[in-house]
Amino acid sequence: MDKIKIKDLEIYANHGLFEEEKTLGQKFLVTVCATLSFRDAAIYKDLDKSIDYGTLAHEIYDFFTKEKEDLLETLAYKLTKFIFDKYKIIEELDVEIKKPWAPINLPLDTASVRCIKKKRDYYIGVGTNMGDRESYIKRAFEEMEKAGLEILDSAKIIETKAWGKTDQADFLNTVVKVRSFEDPLDLLHILQKIEIDLDRVRHEKWGPRTIDLDILLIDREVIYNDELKVPHPYLHEREFVLESLNELVPNYFHPILNKKISDIYAEIKNEN
Ligand code: ADP
Ligand code: MG
Repeated sequence: MDKIKIKDLEIYANHGLFEEEKTLGQKFLVTVCATLSFRDAAIYKDLDKSIDYGTLAHEIYDFFTKEKEDLLETLAYKLTKFIFDKYKIIEELDVEIKKPWAPINLPLDTASVRCIKKKRDYYIGVGTNMGDRESYIKRAFEEMEKAGLEILDSAKIIETKAWGKTDQADFLNTVVKVRSFEDPLDLLHILQKIEIDLDRVRHEKWGPRTIDLDILLIDREVIYNDELKVPHPYLHEREFVLESLNELVPNYFHPILNKKISDIYAEIKNEN
């Protein structure tokens, strides 16, 4: 991959926790390094396939001087989001904001924060068996978009019998493909917040729910910790999940089972 970098862009602005920082202002140094492929721009001179670093520098400057933030962390995150939203061709971003005049009263060069993010494709399983099920799915999609997730594709909605705990109402299920720069655990927390906003209450394991949003797959990644397991540990046992995944990505190679989704789906269909 290629990189385009703007280093130590000097901006005088009014960010900071202290009142003096907000009123007097101070100097910030902003470094942005974007990872993308600019081969087409290089070969065919098509600037749409790259980033005009002059324009980007001005956009960063305008963004930085428009509002006042208390925390460098907020600034770095918002600037990262702002640049990703503007330039869809960027795959990864490394944004560093340095404060050379940070009010610390000790001899130091700069204090800084850095936000490092990369775009990933996430496949999210969506399920509901309470209330107005269609409406919950629609609202879940809307909330995902509001949270900045870019919806790229979705499988058709299917009606299925409850799995695991079978004495409950039928489900509507689907799988949606979203692209996001949020890290996997952050994305899980975003989805959990959407579940709560959409009236999800957890009573019993695998019990009825207004909405369930599970991370099924993330690119070719394998994650295994207390909070998050990817590929989703029950993915290969749930026919309804496989049916939707098979519609979207039949050739996806399950990185643990070392089998294509279409083959796992065919096996489970033969069993049932
Ligand atoms: P379920 O989806 O199994 O019916 P919940 O939605 O209540 O149950 O999730 C239970 C826990 O599963 C969550 O607290 C979460 O930390 C964990 N979990 C582990 N891996 C995943 C994943 N890939 N997607 C969603 N939740 C996950
Ligand atoms: Mg869940």
